[in-house]
Amino acid sequence: MKEINTEILIVGAGYAGIAAAKKMYAANQDFRVIEARDRIGGRTLTEDLQSGVTVDMGAKWVGPTQHLVWEWIKETQTETYDTYDQGKNLLKFKEKISSYTGTIPKIDPVSLIDLGIAISKMNKLSDQISISEPWNHPKAKEYDAMTLATWMDKHIWTAKAKHLFEIGIQTVFAAEASEISLLFALFYFKSGDNMDTLISIKNGAQQSILKGGTQGLIKKIAAPFLDKIHFQEPVFRLSQHAGGIIAETDNLTIKAKKCIFTIPPVLISSVVFDPPLTQQKAQLYQRMPMGAAMKVYLIYPTPFWREMGFSGQIVSDEYPLKVTFDVGHADADQGVLLVFVEGNDARNFIDLPEDTRKKMIVERVEKIFGHQASQPIQYIDKCWTEEVYSRGCYTGLMGPNTLTQFGHQIRAPFQHVHFAGTETAEKWSGYLDGAISSGYRAASEVLKML
Ligand SMILES: Cc1cc2nc3c(=O)[nH]c(=O)nc-3n(C[C@H](O)[C@H](O)[C@H](O)COP(=O)(O)OP(=O)(O)OC[C@H]3O[C@@H](n4cnc5c(N)ncnc54)[C@H](O)[C@@H]3O)c2cc1C
Repeated sequence: MKEINTEILIVGAGYAGIAAAKKMYAANQDFRVIEARDRIGGRTLTEDLQSGVTVDMGAKWVGPTQHLVWEWIKETQTETYDTYDQGKNLLKFKEKISSYTGTIPKIDPVSLIDLGIAISKMNKLSDQISISEPWNHPKAKEYDAMTLATWMDKHIWTAKAKHLFEIGIQTVFAAEASEISLLFALFYFKSGDNMDTLISIKNGAQQSILKGGTQGLIKKIAAPFLDKIHFQEPVFRLSQHAGGIIAETDNLTIKAKKCIFTIPPVLISSVVFDPPLTQQKAQLYQRMPMGAAMKVYLIYPTPFWREMGFSGQIVSDEYPLKVTFDVGHADADQGVLLVFVEGNDARNFIDLPEDTRKKMIVERVEKIFGHQASQPIQYIDKCWTEEVYSRGCYTGLMGPNTLTQFGHQIRAPFQHVHFAGTETAEKWSGYLDGAISSGYRAASEVLKML
């Protein structure tokens, strides 16, 4: 057993942990980062495929108002490109395929008005929510007592509008509307500007893609202090005393004055705290399950759909394919089609054998784009519920009665331990930008106390 003595221990080398480490490095502090996986990046994972294409199996996009990620992009001189967004999008609903442009599919006028009103109501409601104290809204208890699905039942009248709204929710939360409270959904929309921003490409959360991927970016940021990171060392126990903390992994005992925890909330429950976490904090962490998303990439010799006048964006009602994007560069030789499988679909689909998964996805795409879609040169998929050190994505969610009862605990320190991670962010919670701001916030808290 090796013993390490340091001033500050950071647990987790995702965007939040590396943001905190960056601040400590800049402040010339003595710190260490302990990471469970054998790699940096947490919920980012960039892979160079045998077909020659680089893909993000985790986080991919950056929106124009995610200023902290853009600071890192500029600092590292990372190149970006716009998500391909030209040509017609396609909607497959009840065996009928129709084309449209923009974010909202072309549907019958009644359903279209219904959908437009629902989105506008969401934007108006979320605009009234404080991102620092959503539990203080005059109607917080009422909104937090119902699920988003209950709200949808009351406010959306047509089956088609409800179906499309639900697909939007699954894409944003990687979960079903019945899993999250209305108040949490309103907070999340406001945190990411509004619902329109979260579902859009242009001026939205899906606007820009990083060359070299989001894991490539964090590797560059962490390069100056890579020697401070210990990999494959999951922390399983953390004890505290008057002067600081002692963290334990299988191979290390780390003594520090202060600690910053950046691991997903649901996983905090798997660490033994001595003394135990306060009961309110422990109850909060029992109530923040992760969503479920699968990313599937189909690589083709060319982006043939572009020549057909299509953008590569599909919205479909046929399990498991719900939403697709063309994420190849505008000048790319190869076609890179990203298919999302979300929420319960992801939880069920990943249990099928890989051959069956590939067959089902390719068949769905072929139905829409025709025969050329039947022969991808590569298929790759990943479901984040299988990742032991994430257990899902994109973020920890809150069902009813969580924000109002326990929300005030989300950023509260516990003795010498401070809490970061995208789930603790006010702005862009659930996203890379929120992870960075949370790491900076926790680092400032600790620096003030040293
Ligand atoms: C499929 C997918 C798509 C996404 N798309 C986007 C997107 O397009 N844009 C965007 O902005 N965001 C996106 N996100 C969300 C984004 O990835 C997360 O918000 C962000 O990466 C969270 O960073 P974090 O540092 O808070 O947490 P994490 O990245 O989860 O970092 C926590 C770290 O703690 C480590 N850890 C866990 N347990 C222990 C332990 N016991 N001891 C030590 N270490 C431990 C983990 O291994 C991990 O490295 C996506 C996520 C996924 C998975």
